[in-house]
Amino acid sequence: MFPPAETQQGEEGEAKDEEANVTTETKVRTKSFYFDTACTSHMTPYAGRLLNYTKCSRFVKSSSQESMEIEGKGTVIMECVLRDGSVSSFRVCDVLHVPKLGHPLILWRKLRTKGYTEFGEGDFISINKGTKVMFEAVFDGNLFKIPEISQSAHITYDFWHRALGHLAPSSIDKALKIYSDADIPAKPKDFICSSCIKSKMTRNPRPSTTTKDRNKLDHVHSVLSEPFPVPSYGTSLYYITLIDDATRVAWVRFMKQKSETTKIVKDYDTDMEHQHHKSPKAFRTDNGGEYVIKNLKGFFESKGIRHEFTPPYSPESNGVAERLN
Ligand SMILES: [Zn+2]
Repeated sequence: MFPPAETQQGEEGEAKDEEANVTTETKVRTKSFYFDTACTSHMTPYAGRLLNYTKCSRFVKSSSQESMEIEGKGTVIMECVLRDGSVSSFRVCDVLHVPKLGHPLILWRKLRTKGYTEFGEGDFISINKGTKVMFEAVFDGNLFKIPEISQSAHITYDFWHRALGHLAPSSIDKALKIYSDADIPAKPKDFICSSCIKSKMTRNPRPSTTTKDRNKLDHVHSVLSEPFPVPSYGTSLYYITLIDDATRVAWVRFMKQKSETTKIVKDYDTDMEHQHHKSPKAFRTDNGGEYVIKNLKGFFESKGIRHEFTPPYSPESNGVAERLN
């Protein structure tokens, strides 16, 4: 949980310009916050970290008396790294967005009015509330810098690529040109997304099975349905289809159990014998267990019926039967 919010309310109505001991000459912008004792408000040049952003239009003066525009303000949640290695979440309200500012600043004067205490030791300053250390700043040769967990340390390029719906690197580059302070790390040279590669893969079409056999019962296609959640009036849960490839005459039978498959295939064969004086030459089905049971295998062998299987996960290979379904 966050510590009590550092709330500062009095700025909206103030007519006078803010003052800041800052310079605009900094060539290299860093994103770390610096601890400052001279300026009058918390400020940052980066809008990207400001939550609950509200626009405003005022001016702040730098130490060189240059006037810089305040474009808005918001809340920053800092994840400050302490010397003992722990991380302290610290929420700072009313942080002004000053695009021309050299680097983000946290103001001591404001914290002091909220009951925080400052404790200096060597190159470190620690800001405490009671006995709890809220954050620490370390002297980096010029200013006191507040070490934070890098916003991008645990958020990788891969994370952003996936979070943006597997956005193409070229589109991420475009976005970075517009939002230059976005915390998206550069694309690693060896970046590969296995999901993107898989999604772009194609597979060759299966050999067509739609070539119609000329003669009746040369080929019979069959498919067994999945169980229905509600039984029929006759308490059936499945149906099986048998289609002659040449004539496309279809047989549909309902079953209470899958084990009735063998009996129905045998009935079909008997019916064809009576009507057309011949048995099917070949039977095309998927690899479903009901079709590979021993009884059915023995029956096909005894009648000289060739049993053809469609490859797994390719219902299109059994197109005639699947289309009827
Ligand atoms: Zn991807």
